Amino acid sequence: MIIGIKGVVKIKLSKRQDEILEIVKQNGPITGKEIAERLSLSRAALRPDLAILTMSGNIDARPRVGYFYNDKFKVKRQADRVLHQSVNNFKAHPIVVGKSTSVYDAIVQLFLEDVGTLYAVDSEGSLAGVISRKDLLRASLGNQNLSELPVSVIMTRMPNIITIYPEETLLEAAKKMIQNHIDSLPVVRKSDEQTNTYLLVGRITKTTITRAYLEVMDEKLD
Ligand code: ADP
Repeated sequence: MIIGIKGVVKIKLSKRQDEILEIVKQNGPITGKEIAERLSLSRAALRPDLAILTMSGNIDARPRVGYFYNDKFKVKRQADRVLHQSVNNFKAHPIVVGKSTSVYDAIVQLFLEDVGTLYAVDSEGSLAGVISRKDLLRASLGNQNLSELPVSVIMTRMPNIITIYPEETLLEAAKKMIQNHIDSLPVVRKSDEQTNTYLLVGRITKTTITRAYLEVMDEKLD
């Protein structure tokens, strides 16, 4: 089993440390003497392993109570597991419209596809813009003819679009969404180094992160 010390350094637990962890998990709070008896070891022989498990945060020690399993650390480990998944494994299908699509048609598309964000592409298929619910609401507030207004006028366009690559992690995706106050990210591959154009290969939303949590947790329950 791989664990992180204080969430930073990764170390591999020995077979005996795994055994101790399991005993503490099942029987905690439990004294060092009791653990030693279960493993037919002396307390002195057990001490280095208990020190490692305590330092790494897997177990806690309370004077006159004993050792007990650190659930807080378990939650952090599970969160690490989820957030280190790659974007590629969880990306959803992006809903795409042409740049000249009308705002009216974009609204219809949003409802039909049951999404919160549409992506606009140019004639070469490169990502050109992001159209969110608020963009469409803002455009609808005026007295404009929504059937005549192209989404290219109201969308957030390149180079202001925050993107993510398939190889990046869900942690990177979550950070980008929170830091930029946005609900989703287009997953892209570079199509041209010179012109900095991107092909759209998926989308990641805040819902994706929640779904990843549920899926990874279920996997653990199996
Ligand atoms: P909503 O409008 O439903 O609240 P967002 O919070 O995602 O959705 O969008 C807020 C604003 O940020 C909109 O103007 C939208 O165009 C823009 N936006 C959304 N996603 C991105 C992105 N990946 N990069 C840059 N801007 C974005």
